[in-house]
Amino acid sequence: MKLFLQILLLSWVALPVAQSQTTARAVVDIPVGASFLPDETPVLSIPLSGVAPFLAYSVEWEATPDISLQIRFYDEKEGKWGDWTPLNPDPHSDREAPAYVSELGFAAASCSQFSLRLFPSFDKASLFSVRCHFFNPGNSTPQKPATGQGDRLSCPCPLPSYLDRAGWCPSGNCPPDPTPQPTEVTHLIVHHSAGPNTSSDWSAVVRSIWDYHVNVNGWDDIGYNWLLDPNGVLYEGRGNDLQGAHFCGHNPGTMGVCMMGTYTSVVPPAPMIGKLEKLLAWKCCDRNIDPEDFSFHPNSGLNLFNISGHRDGCSTECPGDSLYAHLPMIRTDVSDTIAACLPSSAYEQQTTETYVHVFPNPATEVIYIQLAPGAPEPVSLRLVDPKGQVRWQSGKNLQAGETITLPVKGWASGWYSLQAGNANLKVLIQ
Ligand SMILES: [Zn+2]
Repeated sequence: MKLFLQILLLSWVALPVAQSQTTARAVVDIPVGASFLPDETPVLSIPLSGVAPFLAYSVEWEATPDISLQIRFYDEKEGKWGDWTPLNPDPHSDREAPAYVSELGFAAASCSQFSLRLFPSFDKASLFSVRCHFFNPGNSTPQKPATGQGDRLSCPCPLPSYLDRAGWCPSGNCPPDPTPQPTEVTHLIVHHSAGPNTSSDWSAVVRSIWDYHVNVNGWDDIGYNWLLDPNGVLYEGRGNDLQGAHFCGHNPGTMGVCMMGTYTSVVPPAPMIGKLEKLLAWKCCDRNIDPEDFSFHPNSGLNLFNISGHRDGCSTECPGDSLYAHLPMIRTDVSDTIAACLPSSAYEQQTTETYVHVFPNPATEVIYIQLAPGAPEPVSLRLVDPKGQVRWQSGKNLQAGETITLPVKGWASGWYSLQAGNANLKVLIQ
């Protein structure tokens, strides 16, 4: 009898499947014993059909903190099992030990089965419950971003064009917060999603994040006010001047922007950074926020840069080392963008940009900066590094038809801002 009980406790036990009523999502509960060896679960079915363009998943569990779980999927199309993938606890979750939830994961649409295991093995590990969430976002139909509009005549910086909720969720199955809380924004918080850096369908990723925040975390709506994909497409999240869920419970006074992807070692692409800067410039201008200054944020009790990373106020590595290292440059660029919003400056900036050429870009050893022969006037040049510091400036103005050679070998990698007169060009040094 004692042996029988031990076997029962040291194994994954009965595996009833609970499926939600809708076809878009499914929940699989895996009751477990109070403690067990690091065995793999039996093969389990994903109770969804017609999944497209990918399968989104997350796993909730209750356990002692020394537990690490992994998941793997059987891909029907490939005819084989994929690699074991760690289920990393999500730092954006508001759960407290012993409750955890994994970051949102993505698997191929053709995956039909899965299994879980404990890894590495722990003799005294205790796992109390496991619940797996699966979401089928469905394919998106291409939508044209709506033209953004500034809602204040005092601010000439426009809200960049964006996909509104009807654009990324035309089925209407991703409703907004039924009781939205207005907030007066003083601090702009930059995040990364810690998910994949590529996707065939970013609107489907946004719907997956909405499902994860609402149906897994139990929040009222998607946590971020805005989201950006690596192509520079902006998505409306919770909305403007509304309190989100992204800053470890200290959300009043903040606007949360999520850069979709993982920017720990990868540098965000230029269109993405460019759109982020335009969005932040619009909001700073809108609320009269100095993008390069810092101020007291009453709800967190912290002095924060007005444009901060998630890690500045919470215990998390978000928004990733690489993106975080670019925040000083982003603050400077936002300041320059606001200065250039005056109609005459904007025109001048655009005109100058058409005459300045930087190549190669990305660069590793040297960059050439050329002013086209037809340029109407000489331009001053300076290069600002990701930390917002002037890394180089030309002693004299660049003349029309002239090319300057600048060695950059050994410089810290990342996006640099080349300020040529009023124009601002991005140069990636690797
Ligand atoms: Zn974050």
